[in-house]
Amino acid sequence: MNTDNTTTTKNYDVVVIGGGAAGLATIASLLKRQPSLKIALAEPSDQHYYQPGWTLVGGGVFKQASTVKNMADLIPAAVTWYKSAAASFQPELNQVVLQDNSTLSYRALVVAMGLKLDWSAIPGLADNLGQHGVTSNYAPGLAPYTWQLVQQLQQGTAIFTQPPMPIKCAGAPQKAMYLSCDHWLRHHVLKNINVHFCSAGAAIFGVADYVPALQQYVKKYAINLNLQTNLIALDASSQTAYFRQTQADGSSKDIEKHFDMLHVTPPQVAPDVLRQSLLADNAGWMNVFPDTLQHQQWPNVFALGDCANTPNAKTAAAVRKQAPVVAENLIKLLTNKPMQAVYDGYGSCPLTVERGKIVLAEFLYGGKVEPTFPKWLVDGTKPSALSWFLKEKMLPPLYWYAMLKGHEWLATPSYRDDLPQDRHQKNQLK
Ligand SMILES: Cc1cc2nc3c(=O)[nH]c(=O)nc-3n(C[C@H](O)[C@H](O)[C@H](O)COP(=O)(O)OP(=O)(O)OC[C@H]3O[C@@H](n4cnc5c(N)ncnc54)[C@H](O)[C@@H]3O)c2cc1C
Repeated sequence: MNTDNTTTTKNYDVVVIGGGAAGLATIASLLKRQPSLKIALAEPSDQHYYQPGWTLVGGGVFKQASTVKNMADLIPAAVTWYKSAAASFQPELNQVVLQDNSTLSYRALVVAMGLKLDWSAIPGLADNLGQHGVTSNYAPGLAPYTWQLVQQLQQGTAIFTQPPMPIKCAGAPQKAMYLSCDHWLRHHVLKNINVHFCSAGAAIFGVADYVPALQQYVKKYAINLNLQTNLIALDASSQTAYFRQTQADGSSKDIEKHFDMLHVTPPQVAPDVLRQSLLADNAGWMNVFPDTLQHQQWPNVFALGDCANTPNAKTAAAVRKQAPVVAENLIKLLTNKPMQAVYDGYGSCPLTVERGKIVLAEFLYGGKVEPTFPKWLVDGTKPSALSWFLKEKMLPPLYWYAMLKGHEWLATPSYRDDLPQDRHQKNQLK
């Protein structure tokens, strides 16, 4: 990997914005198909996080260190790394300007910059993370504090919150709760702890097939389920959380709850630089076709991962399937051939309902259940020890050594030769 800190305009075949799961997986899939591509990556962070591991850090199963690697060690040698954030997009000029003032021009752009955790949307939250019993597995480095709180709590009230959708890994707020409850149950203190799940949503999980199994665990752990109950503010010093609850008649009521432990999942929005650009839809997300992942207005721009407006579950599992689709279609675009690779909306959410068992939710666009394994091996709607083994032992190496290295295990794209022709016409390079 080269680094470049000069500020003149540089030309590349492909510029990738963001070196998270989606950016690095796409780079690997591009280079696997066409090693000669001249690729630049803009990524400000020194560290790359395996975020799906943070649930297990918060549950005392993984160490935080196992979820972090140096960015420099993961970027392929052929790629030029700009250690700077994208500051503005200029799709009409085929350019991106970075915070360090470098201008990168491209034949094709891949935007994979993730989403923004909007801590400041909840007054009293940002400054109190990591103290007064306030934690979040979503905050880089804070999952060990979750585990510390879980071990310390012997009695009192524990609240787990979930904001309005979209959020990444929609099951993660309750995964943290179930693993905490499992620990308290095993240590005979659960009976002394009042557990509340306060979710802005109207259902415990968005895909109905998985709800019965989750409801059983809600019952087993005697969890107080507060749906349509959204965290709106926090007074950490008095350990008070404030919620707005939607009533049956549509009116809303503000309520407050004392807590001894509060696990917050923050509201999640599109990154500011994206929201303010010509690439965003009305809600601020990258406006791409859900099948080809090509931008709806700018043909030589693609997006995947958490920043895209595709209606799939925002997960690394989705990225695993999306990256080969973007790589295939982008190379077709550069060679003036019609695009054929399509993403079907696959996403997966391994719900850690107890230590050693997982309800493995896997589904496509529209919530259509799509299990990877035959039902006799893994019935995703039931708690399964094999699914836990997969999550704990198989998925981390799959991520580091397959997905980020261009080995597209269980990620072969499907192809269609009937994609709308008007889009194909727009795909021709000038
Ligand atoms: C607690 C938790 C549990 C999860 N559990 C699971 C799970 O069990 N299974 C699963 O599949 N997924 C899970 N996920 C979700 C998964 O981690 C994300 O969906 C995935 O990381 C998305 O990849 P991404 O590349 O889009 O975003 P990220 O991996 O977040 O990467 C975005 C990158 O863009 C960079 N960036 C930001 N702004 C800029 C800019 N202006 N310019 C350039 N670069 C920029 C960032 O530094 C970062 O490196 C979980 C996430 C969390 C937080």
